Amino acid sequence: MTRYGLIGRNLEHSFSPTYFNKKFAREGIADHSYKLLELDTLKGLMDEVSREGLAGFNVTIPFKEKIINQLDELDAVARKVGAVNTVKVHDGKLYGYNTDIYGFHESLKPFIKPDRKALILGTGGAAKAVGYVLRELNIEHRFVSRTPGFTNEIGYDNLDVFTIRDHQLIINTTPLGMYPYNEGFPPIPYHLITPEHVLYDLIYNPPETVFMKKGKDKGATVLNGQKMLELQAERSWEIWQAPGLEV
Ligand code: NAP
Repeated sequence: MTRYGLIGRNLEHSFSPTYFNKKFAREGIADHSYKLLELDTLKGLMDEVSREGLAGFNVTIPFKEKIINQLDELDAVARKVGAVNTVKVHDGKLYGYNTDIYGFHESLKPFIKPDRKALILGTGGAAKAVGYVLRELNIEHRFVSRTPGFTNEIGYDNLDVFTIRDHQLIINTTPLGMYPYNEGFPPIPYHLITPEHVLYDLIYNPPETVFMKKGKDKGATVLNGQKMLELQAERSWEIWQAPGLEV
């Protein structure tokens, strides 16, 4: 049996076990399994990995940054972003990767237009991954924060008609609107949204958030985080399946 898992907290509604176990059944690799591993802390991580016999695992909130200290090596992208969501166990060592970057990059491709600038709502781990991809793509962007500090950050109260007009790609990386708090939404001036805008919500549960509904009401193109999630999972799988560390 080859075992994989997801390490994090409050995992009961996670997408990954269903996704991977269905994939294993569909592809006839019944000797593979994927399970949830709720951890309070990362202390004793290697013991847990050995006890469970994991060949690889995903990492989620709140460990994507903290896990770095526990790893033997990081790939170049994970090192630059400072966050890991995929770990491969190889010869008893732990190697960290960031497949959120790949998932976000690939899912964004159909929505990239010359001169389209972006606003990233939130400044957490997912916002860092999104910012990294936008930088790589030379897409000008600003972060929207409740407590703006850095020069490329702006407060929600300062989102005026010019800012919204000039930033036609708006990406929600806050948890506002995520299950079970479905009624939440980021406080942006939705009345200024137009059919030229793209509202991308990283949330995938519920599949249509209030942020997306409000954008749709103004004629904007909207998408949720499902595609990104599937792409990052498939990329993790490729990493685990590769014979060595280069993929
Ligand atoms: P996080 O580290 O907790 O950061 C979220 C950021 O949102 C915070 O830094 C904060 O920025 C802002 N925020 C938090 N609570 C808020 C509130 N009550 N009101 C306004 N802003 C608030 O979380 P994360 O790891 O970045 O994940 C964020 C979301 O992305 C989650 O919903 C997660 O499920 C989703 N996600 C999806 C995928 C995918 O594959 N689709 C992958 C990764 C993450 P400020 O303090 O600067 O305002």
